[in-house]
Amino acid sequence: MHRFETIAVHAGAEVDPETGAIAAPIHLSTTYEHGAEFVPGSGYLYQRYSNPTQDRLEVALAAIEGGARALAFASGLAAGAAYFQHLPRGSHVLMADDTYFAFRKVAENYFDQWQLDFSTVDMTDLPAVHAAVRRNTAVLWIETPSNPLIKVSDVAALAQIAHAAGAQLVVDATFATPVLLKPLALGADVVLHSTTKYMGGHSDVLGGALIFARDDATVAKIFDLRKLLGGVANPFASWLVLRGLRSLAVRVRAQCVSARCVADWLAAQPRVEAVHYPGLASHPNHAVAAAQMSDFGGMLSFQVRGGRAAAIACAAQLKLFINATSLGGVESLIEHRESVEGAGTPTPDNLLRVSIGLEHIDDLIADLAQALASL
Ligand SMILES: *Cc1c(COP(=O)(O)O)cnc(C)c1O
Repeated sequence: MHRFETIAVHAGAEVDPETGAIAAPIHLSTTYEHGAEFVPGSGYLYQRYSNPTQDRLEVALAAIEGGARALAFASGLAAGAAYFQHLPRGSHVLMADDTYFAFRKVAENYFDQWQLDFSTVDMTDLPAVHAAVRRNTAVLWIETPSNPLIKVSDVAALAQIAHAAGAQLVVDATFATPVLLKPLALGADVVLHSTTKYMGGHSDVLGGALIFARDDATVAKIFDLRKLLGGVANPFASWLVLRGLRSLAVRVRAQCVSARCVADWLAAQPRVEAVHYPGLASHPNHAVAAAQMSDFGGMLSFQVRGGRAAAIACAAQLKLFINATSLGGVESLIEHRESVEGAGTPTPDNLLRVSIGLEHIDDLIADLAQALASL
């Protein structure tokens, strides 16, 4: 069995048998010749059903997560929505209280209409999770590390709670990537990624994926949903994500080293009220993170002393960090989350979320130092 780095380079990367091309061909054709009578299962039919470039991506995604099967989508949201829509009417979804805000919005705005039910709980509080499970709970929907408080929840323990209740555990592991966390090996049933983030890795492609522990009826249902509702990954997007996967491990490891330095440095600054990074011994979930992850990731957030205005002034003063949403690219980004998430968000108003890129660490710290000094 090859190691992660090797699998990430070679999965779905067989040399093109027609031309000998090393780089995967991008098949843009929407339709495929099928003879006078189409025989189901005999090959490709139409791009919305499946296509060769997306197939390569799915082979690679399943291999790097250790899953039985992967399905690629047009975005992380499309992947999540397809999962929700496959649930039987009357199902209850137990969500993390700091679930990615757009999934929370999907639940608030559409679950009623889809005849689904949801409630939220702090997934780092296992007794609370036990108490929140209902008779009709079909899924525990978790995110680790979470956005933007970078909370880490115990995947193995939550898988046990889910399975004891006859429910599935779905893990949004976008922040962790399979370089750092293998949810399926810890008992999760499905892993979700916004491939827009670390997997694409260059802030130039939108995509999502579900990777499944078993190739069973759930996969067949979600495959049909994708085919009929149309949330497929297009061939060029599939190709860009596939290319990103090849260098995922080295990018993420470098980003972890820099994030750790930035977190340590911020934690020593008098103008910083709190730093949220699971690599810090002071992080409430540090022990769980150390046990289940191989490193602590490239995402962190911090709270600036002086409230909302001071946080925004700090973000405005940065020259190298770009004020922008999203994460996981080569450039470092910073964002005042409360103003993005809007009314009703539980995010503290003096919090800035940081995605560490691949710049030199000294330049990143110098930029933060001049911004904090200006306050
Ligand atoms: C960005 C993000 C999503 C949504 O993915 P899109 O590709 O933007 O649709 C879901 N979960 C997490 C943790 C994210 O960061």
